[in-house]
Amino acid sequence: MLRRALLAISASKRIHQLVVGAPLTRDVVARFVAGDSADDALRVTQALQAEGLLVTLDYLGEDTVDPEQAAAVTHEYVRLLGRLGAAGLASAGRAEVSVKATAVGLDLPEHGEKTATENITRICAAASAAGTTVTLDMEDDTRVDATLHILAQVRQEFPDLGCVIQSYLRRSPEDCEALAFAGSRVRLCKGAYGATEGAAFATRAQIDRSYARCLRVLLNGEGYPMFATHDPRLVDIAGGRAVAVGRSPASFEYQMLYGIRPAEQLRLAGGGARVRVYVPYGRDWYAYSTRRLKENPSIARHVIRATLGLGPAA
Ligand SMILES: Cc1cc2nc3c(=O)[nH]c(=O)nc-3n(C[C@H](O)[C@H](O)[C@H](O)COP(=O)(O)OP(=O)(O)OC[C@H]3O[C@@H](n4cnc5c(N)ncnc54)[C@H](O)[C@@H]3O)c2cc1C
Repeated sequence: MLRRALLAISASKRIHQLVVGAPLTRDVVARFVAGDSADDALRVTQALQAEGLLVTLDYLGEDTVDPEQAAAVTHEYVRLLGRLGAAGLASAGRAEVSVKATAVGLDLPEHGEKTATENITRICAAASAAGTTVTLDMEDDTRVDATLHILAQVRQEFPDLGCVIQSYLRRSPEDCEALAFAGSRVRLCKGAYGATEGAAFATRAQIDRSYARCLRVLLNGEGYPMFATHDPRLVDIAGGRAVAVGRSPASFEYQMLYGIRPAEQLRLAGGGARVRVYVPYGRDWYAYSTRRLKENPSIARHVIRATLGLGPAA
């Protein structure tokens, strides 16, 4: 019920304006978003690295149908990577970037896939010059084939381009099999988007079982798995399975979102694991924040109270 209400909230233009315009709401969002600018992204990256964490930076924005906007997002990533390199924050992949295909052109009315492929190639070239990598985020299930196709194209020149597999999709164990080869960086997450009828598992138990199955495939393979989850049970399963198959801590990593379970991020890193924090920044924080709200409705209470000027909830 609440989940449906939040989806409706995210679709409403009026509520969008209300939420975006409310200064207190920005305070709430600040817990999950580094800030509006690349300066904010660099500041947060430095702070997280000082705590022994790795970082992937996401310049917020998606679903553009405007070629100029796709070019501007690409330019922002290229500039960001230059700054990360110059500041010494990117070496050995300590800070990398995550990119959505629809933010750099996939949905353009003409030549969308070609434009996205070219823009992602540009971003990979900038990452390579800075000594780091790029991971292609995965969006809804209608974009999976195109995104994997772009991955295959760009990997010919930049084999360290990573991708994301979502365990809520029925096809994912098979995709993991295809991607579990040497040098292949694969982030495994549960999936944050709606899906076409029949494409996804319906229950949490099925999605979790699929996650466990996918993680076994990735750990048994020869690639570099990146376990993106805050779910304590799946974190344990991943760690246990890695030991069972003789994986060294350097041969895989955990990933969590900025502001979510920070103590657990530090606990895992303190135990010798590689832990990467996904840090979004930029002014276009609405869609990202709404997905986070949907996952954890307790945050919605704070946002709605803040938006209505009711002060912090107890
Ligand atoms: C690094 C990273 C990258 C991602 N990239 C993608 C992507 O490319 N494509 C995609 O579809 N999805 C992506 N996701 C989102 C992912 O698919 C899930 O929607 C999200 O991670 C929540 O699932 P979970 O595995 O944490 O498990 P859940 O079952 O949602 O949560 C398990 C537990 O984690 C805690 N928790 C989870 N979410 C929150 C929250 N918002 N606030 C506070 N506590 C919380 C709670 O204790 C909860 O009980 C990414 C997630 C991460 C961590």
